[in-house]
Amino acid sequence: MAQVTLRSIEKRFGSTRVVKGVSLDIANGEFVSLVGPSGCGKSTLLRMIAGLEDISGGDLMIDGRRMNAVAAKRRNIAMVFQNYALYPHMTVAENMGFSLRIKGLPKAEIATQVRQAADVVGLGDYLDRLPRQLSGGQRQRVAMARAIVRHPAAFLFDEPLSNLDAKLRVQMRSEIKSLHQRLGTTTIYVTHDQIEAMTMADRIVVMNVGEVEQEGAPLTLYDHPESVFVAGFIGSPA
Ligand code: ADP
Ligand code: MG
Repeated sequence: MAQVTLRSIEKRFGSTRVVKGVSLDIANGEFVSLVGPSGCGKSTLLRMIAGLEDISGGDLMIDGRRMNAVAAKRRNIAMVFQNYALYPHMTVAENMGFSLRIKGLPKAEIATQVRQAADVVGLGDYLDRLPRQLSGGQRQRVAMARAIVRHPAAFLFDEPLSNLDAKLRVQMRSEIKSLHQRLGTTTIYVTHDQIEAMTMADRIVVMNVGEVEQEGAPLTLYDHPESVFVAGFIGSPA
């Protein structure tokens, strides 16, 4: 589990500042949801934390260690994307075990880890299937299991449920929540759906055009929004 600290994090693409000095302290084991309208910089911020994007300014610390230039694969942070990003030609088991194969773990060890992760997400009977033979929800579970096998210090989710229908979204919400309760892994969960954030997170961070507008416990934000923007965003229907 990891403590994640952001100090005045900035991101510029050319002359455009898309993340404008974001500071956040995320505790070990905390489930933080990052919300805000499309284009406000959520994915960019998450990608910087994951190490998939360079940081233009400020400091990123994981467990007190400065991470600005540390490569993604050395951070042990797992990211789960909206489009699953599964390898289409690999079976479920091969998808789940790929990162362990890269690490050079023995085959038997990989099989054990994959089986455990598959059980966590309820896909024990689907290990030999290909991604195209799975439903959207099952594909998202494969993506989660692929993250779980790495025993990451933190999970980063980028709108993982946006491609699923409403009923499945509700089910997956509680699956991700119980996964967090079970593993206790620090989680940053990006969504533009405030209901998702309200029901899942210990704390919600509301972003607007590259900045943190307000952060707090779900009910605090709901009861005491500090700006019309937050009130409109948190209070509006999904
Ligand atoms: P969100 O995830 O909140 O929808 P993003 O982080 O994807 O927002 O994008 C924030 C802003 O940065 C947007 O205006 C987007 O167009 C811009 N942006 C994102 N990635 C790039 C890139 N690689 N090059 C230039 N601009 C980018
Ligand atoms: Mg995004």
